[in-house]
Amino acid sequence: MLKINNLHVKLEDEDKQILKGLSLEVPAGQVHAIMGPNGSGKSTLSYVLSGKDGYDVTEGTASLDGEDLLEMEPEERAAAGLFLAFQYPVEIPGVGNMTFLRTAVNAQRKARGEDELSAGEFLKAVRAKAADLKIDAEMLKRPVNVGFSGGEKKRNEILQMAMLEPRMCIMDETDSGLDVDAMRLVADGVNALRSPDRSFLVITHYQRLLDHIQPDVVHIMADGRIVKTGGPELALEVEKNGYGDLLSEVR
Ligand code: ADP
Ligand code: MG
Ligand code: MG
Repeated sequence: MLKINNLHVKLEDEDKQILKGLSLEVPAGQVHAIMGPNGSGKSTLSYVLSGKDGYDVTEGTASLDGEDLLEMEPEERAAAGLFLAFQYPVEIPGVGNMTFLRTAVNAQRKARGEDELSAGEFLKAVRAKAADLKIDAEMLKRPVNVGFSGGEKKRNEILQMAMLEPRMCIMDETDSGLDVDAMRLVADGVNALRSPDRSFLVITHYQRLLDHIQPDVVHIMADGRIVKTGGPELALEVEKNGYGDLLSEVR
């Protein structure tokens, strides 16, 4: 499914190498977590996969179901089934959440050669998903993320994810700011949307998030590479001993 090989990324405007030969594979149906100290390049990885400007890939590959992600425009990546959730979602004053979501869903359906959903069909679909996820659909009447609490933003993100039905979800939940309740929401959302043909890459600082998600595989990232891969016990080891021992062992 998601296959990253020897990825090297530098900043476009500066001679600064951030990813230095990162390799990673997330098979269909699995949940992988990436943990790692601040500044190791975790957010850069998710930005590069999403197609954000400002980074140069100098070496290596990244593909989704065999298709070269790095050659695609951001919207093509979404159509191919990639979903990226960021910790601080953008607020879009003046654009209704419902309109925004329907536009995103229909753009994706169109790119996949499927019929677009009418307003009525969309409303029905979104209400059903919201009910499944126990999300209050009232949120859809408000402008995108404007004045949303942290928890509401998380719910909205999970609802977007559910509606877009991605194959590969990348969630950067790294820095501080996720309280225990928001963490729980993210974990419940991931668990509800887990399926044999959908994978998750959850980037996090917190073992606590992984208590609720139970990843299949945990990767430790440091200095632009994956330096260790293991099971959920690896996250517990980090929680208990920090990164120090682990990293000196790797060195
Ligand atoms: P993490 O998410 O693991 O904390 P980041 O990907 O945010 O790491 O950052 C990795 C390194 O690259 C850090 O040293 C950070 O300061 C640097 N970096 C990332 N983006 C930029 C940028 N746009 N300008 C300057 N430095 C950057
Ligand atoms: Mg980060
Ligand atoms: Mg560019």
